[in-house]
Amino acid sequence: MIPLVHPCRAEGEKRFVTRLRYDDAEAEGRDSHLLMDTGNKMLFSGQHGLFEIEGTGKDSFDRDIVVVDPVKASAERLVRANSEHNTFLVTERCDQLCVMCSQPPKKHHTDRFEEYRQAAELAPFGAMLGISGGEPTLYKAELFDLVESTFASRPDVSWHILSNAQHFEMSDVERLCRPAFKRVTWGIPLYSTDPDVHDTIVAKQGAHTRLEESLALLMSSAAQIELRTVVLQSNAEHLPKIANFVARYLRFIVQWSIMQLENIGFAKNRFDILYFDHSSDFAPIARAIDMSTLFGVDAALFNFTLCSVPESYRSYCAASISDWKRKFAGRCNRCSGRNDCSGFFEWHPEGKMEVKPL
Ligand code: SF4
Repeated sequence: MIPLVHPCRAEGEKRFVTRLRYDDAEAEGRDSHLLMDTGNKMLFSGQHGLFEIEGTGKDSFDRDIVVVDPVKASAERLVRANSEHNTFLVTERCDQLCVMCSQPPKKHHTDRFEEYRQAAELAPFGAMLGISGGEPTLYKAELFDLVESTFASRPDVSWHILSNAQHFEMSDVERLCRPAFKRVTWGIPLYSTDPDVHDTIVAKQGAHTRLEESLALLMSSAAQIELRTVVLQSNAEHLPKIANFVARYLRFIVQWSIMQLENIGFAKNRFDILYFDHSSDFAPIARAIDMSTLFGVDAALFNFTLCSVPESYRSYCAASISDWKRKFAGRCNRCSGRNDCSGFFEWHPEGKMEVKPL
């Protein structure tokens, strides 16, 4: 696991966002420059004074964007320059309570939108930044402002925003049609075409109806949508019906991502009753992929190791797990598919990492 928060001693009292630089080429005022590197500590100097980040190891921090908190004595890497997996957690509040939520909601909210705006402005050229929660659209005004203000200064930056799509309104359509939102892909979950099953999974009555309304609004905004379905014991048999629904009504989507369960959050203590073992029954997933492919909808399998999937469906597997939270079994070192494999989440139980090197 790659740590994102490091101990840090800094002058002053206020938090600040800065980009770390190992050299001066094309440096600007918001950059901080490396003065000394002892191997496990790096000393930087910038407009907010001196600060020293500990525990840096071999990982390069060059051009990373960090938020330094002198009071908490920490430096958090908001954007890792060498990674394609940078995500801003904009809130931990949520209006749903999904049975398998990997990030169980909290009641309090800390507004960090200004820090994220500054980080996006400093991000590498062409960066794709993720936004997740909680439910980001609970702070829709701030979220939309972040997208639009970033577009004004950095039109090359694009966004992938996870949302339960419970808060879009007809009045949003005009704004969602603007050029800034052409840089956004919305990751939206649909767990079943049966409203009762979907509402039970997200623990919110009426959620399915509201989701359908939002999909229509997004469609009229020409929004880019990645539909997401986590496979569970309670909805695995519904996958072909979802595929049929997608083929009939949602053929405009960018991708349908069928996702395997994470053993964390609410799912950790319920894993055995939630987890659908696709390695012993791949049939509903295969039928769903076949149908969506037949109708020209791109499908992808997220969090499925290559060796657990029948060979003819391995091309649908994406290396979906972010680098900082991904691990492999020891035997994976001799697998020819390792570079294309999702691997396992860092928190996946060691005893349940069944692998068959390819
Ligand atoms: S052996 Fe390991 S690297 Fe190879 S496909 Fe299986 S999980 Fe992936």
